[in-house]
Amino acid sequence: MATALDPLIVEYLKMFNCSSCEELFSKLKKIHTEHKPVEGEHVRFSIHDIKHLSTSDRIGTIIGDMNIYWSANKAAELIKDLRENPPKKSFENPVVQQYSSEAEYSAMTPLITNVDLPGSKYNFVGHGYYTELFFHMFFGNYSDFNEHMKKLSKQDLKKTLKTREGYPQFSPLFAPIIGRRMIHIERMSWLTEQNKRDIRMMYHGSNENRQVKILEKLLKLGADPNAHDILGGTPLCYAAYFRYDDTEKVVSTLLRYGANPNNSCQYNSILRFFCNTLASFPEYWSIIDLLLSYNAKPMDYEEAMKIRYKMETNYPLEYAVKLREACPKKKNECERTVCKVSTVKQCKACDFVVYCTPACQKLDWKFHKPTCKKKREEKALENNA
Ligand SMILES: [Zn+2]
Ligand SMILES: [Zn+2]
Repeated sequence: MATALDPLIVEYLKMFNCSSCEELFSKLKKIHTEHKPVEGEHVRFSIHDIKHLSTSDRIGTIIGDMNIYWSANKAAELIKDLRENPPKKSFENPVVQQYSSEAEYSAMTPLITNVDLPGSKYNFVGHGYYTELFFHMFFGNYSDFNEHMKKLSKQDLKKTLKTREGYPQFSPLFAPIIGRRMIHIERMSWLTEQNKRDIRMMYHGSNENRQVKILEKLLKLGADPNAHDILGGTPLCYAAYFRYDDTEKVVSTLLRYGANPNNSCQYNSILRFFCNTLASFPEYWSIIDLLLSYNAKPMDYEEAMKIRYKMETNYPLEYAVKLREACPKKKNECERTVCKVSTVKQCKACDFVVYCTPACQKLDWKFHKPTCKKKREEKALENNA
């Protein structure tokens, strides 16, 4: 049986000039072992060349290696270019950079958000062109941040809150959200002890780690919670991307100050972005509830079905059931998520959803059961009224 290729592999394949999968595999192994950025060999490659690569662990290794290889290539190019052409300051949302596919976009996210700030895998102290204020916020030094802000006139404050910096064109609000990773510098396995010491010394070793307090203060002062960067990423997206104990606090603060949970994150709605990112981390699942309570919705029908499927396969039943309310099926389409058959045969118990066959209904029963019961009770109440 033919193995379906992960679209990410297809994206990465464009980077290699190999005549067979064996060649690709050994090249990647070599690169991986030596762990060095490799100068770009952008190349011709056909899917058919690796169709006999069927074992999933081998494909897994290749994806892992290609991630390193591709990111390292792109990072080297980008770092060089930014040294020669530092980004200009601006004061509005940048034009969103377009990628040829969702896979390419997700592979670029870590690269773009990290490459010119301290802690980057490929450029550990970042670039020196960020302002002192940005670093106060990034490193969580509330005292210095506050001193700086207090001295500003009303007009300068307004301008400061809109200033865009760095390659991703971040506004100040992004700094503390992304800078939370500095609190957890010990977890950055790609940094040596010396790298870590050097990064700490960038702030004289006396970081206050008060990023979340800075975030709140910025919002109070009028920072735009819906600003976006060149990837189309908003503060909410970054809160999910940099996941720590305080993620729920960051998300709820942003929502409270007017962050729109229905601003998309380029190829995904915020809802899908969170559902995907948090799937393997039960400690963050309550954030999904939080988003739903702020009426977060999928971008379109196709995405709604992807979210439903993700929930049914990765989350506990209660989440899959809740998500159905935010992601309903089309009228007259079988209620089972993966079934696209059109039908008018209603669930006899509630008359609320339709199923194409008893088989589909049976397979879907565990997800529909709680809603079915609720609908029956509602109907009984109406009839008694
Ligand atoms: Zn069906
Ligand atoms: Zn029913």
